[in-house]
Amino acid sequence: MPAPNIETIAQLAKRRGFVFPSAEIYGGLASSWDYGPLGVEICNNVKRAWWRWMVYERDDIEGIDTAIIMNRLVWKYSGHEDTFSDPLVDCRACKSRLRADKLENHSGLPIEQAIAAGAVKCPNCGSTDLTEPRPFNLMFRTQVGPVAAEDDPSALAYLRPETAQGIFVNFLNVQRTARRKLPFGIAQIGKSFRNEVTPGNFIFRTREFEQMEMEYFVRPGEDERWHDYWIEQCFNWYTGLGLDPKNLRLYEQPPEELAHYSKRTVDIQYRFFPEREQEEKQWDELMGIANRTDFDLRAHSKGPVDAEGKRLNPDSTEDLSYFDEATRERFYPYVIEPAAGVNRSVLAFLMDAYTEKESERGEKRIVLRLHPELAPIKVAVLPLAKNKPEIVRMAKEIKRMLQPAMRTVYDDTAGIGKLYARQDEIGTPYCVTVDHQSLEDEAVTVRDRDTWQQVRVKVAELTEHLKKRLNLKC
Ligand code: ATP
Repeated sequence: MPAPNIETIAQLAKRRGFVFPSAEIYGGLASSWDYGPLGVEICNNVKRAWWRWMVYERDDIEGIDTAIIMNRLVWKYSGHEDTFSDPLVDCRACKSRLRADKLENHSGLPIEQAIAAGAVKCPNCGSTDLTEPRPFNLMFRTQVGPVAAEDDPSALAYLRPETAQGIFVNFLNVQRTARRKLPFGIAQIGKSFRNEVTPGNFIFRTREFEQMEMEYFVRPGEDERWHDYWIEQCFNWYTGLGLDPKNLRLYEQPPEELAHYSKRTVDIQYRFFPEREQEEKQWDELMGIANRTDFDLRAHSKGPVDAEGKRLNPDSTEDLSYFDEATRERFYPYVIEPAAGVNRSVLAFLMDAYTEKESERGEKRIVLRLHPELAPIKVAVLPLAKNKPEIVRMAKEIKRMLQPAMRTVYDDTAGIGKLYARQDEIGTPYCVTVDHQSLEDEAVTVRDRDTWQQVRVKVAELTEHLKKRLNLKC
């Protein structure tokens, strides 16, 4: 049973220190969030798991970390300056800002006509008095240096809205220095920024977020096969880390939804809104896997010309084509792009792990059945009696013994029942309890989060015992 809705997770996240509203003491900022002691751990664990799977466990992928603020020309030639926009609509009655493509439209007419015909309602106040949709560019503008961009247009810069472009402009740098032949990929994890018209649903859609993207460069003609391959790989990555396949599905983007560079995009959707009555409305994007063709490499190259022989990109100093030694051919590789959000993935993992269970005393207990790899804390060491110095000392020594091998905490701030409940609620796979008998037999109790079963283990064997059960890869 996953979480009944996102709100349940938002409350748990705040109560337990996963995620806090940003700058709450000043009233916060819409859709900005801060990750607390547990939140930073789960985000890092998701990123580590992705990087290991994507880069370390394969032979064909390199990593990179590129700048957030790049030369503005990157965004000119990538097409983002012209086309990275959402259709913005204002409600004249309640002044809400709305995304036209997300409004309910049952009229059968295209959205512009439906709005003009009064067939579309504002979801906030029900009025049909809406403005015509107009494009709103989602890139955050900033200035580089002391002169404002209004006074000196060359000072204009953007915060990147995707990490991918940093990869494309470095395609040849990586290919040459890593001596790569097709097919190969370049992976990057980092912050992206989008001035979303309607952010919301907790960490599902925010203006600042982290992405995990990989651009996989292939021979044209082999792109469709690789696209299918990466869709399957990504689906299996999520299920391998515990997401229930029943809460995941593939969504084929229809042509009108495709981004300007895409030949085909398939989204992996998660059931983020299980409370919605209509099944179809329960799903939303977790990650996208796009076939970006050779659009980006061509767009950033100095080579391509138009019908009159004029260079399409007079600013680029490089040609990002690839020379195949074996066939003596030169061409622009096609690109398959699996693009996932760190924060949205964390939300899906938290929702899916959420379970409610009844204790022996009939109390409701929340248990986060997170995959051990993702759990913020792997082991909690708890003394049964905190007023017995020998027990406390032994528990603290065990904590120190375990911590080089796995993230371990010590807690003695409540009775044992409450301490167990607290660890269950944050997804700690194992609790180690030190009791009176431990002082005599040098053994402790290991309690399993999911079964609540307990076994007695010798302290000398504890590290190996837990390592084996956690089966951590990193
Ligand atoms: P959406 O349709 O939800 O706006 P998108 O199709 O524009 O998303 P992509 O450009 O494909 O998103 O980005 C890849 C991934 O980055 C998304 O699947 C999502 O996990 C994440 N992502 C995109 N925008 C946001 C955002 N505003 N907040 C949090 N995560 C985001």
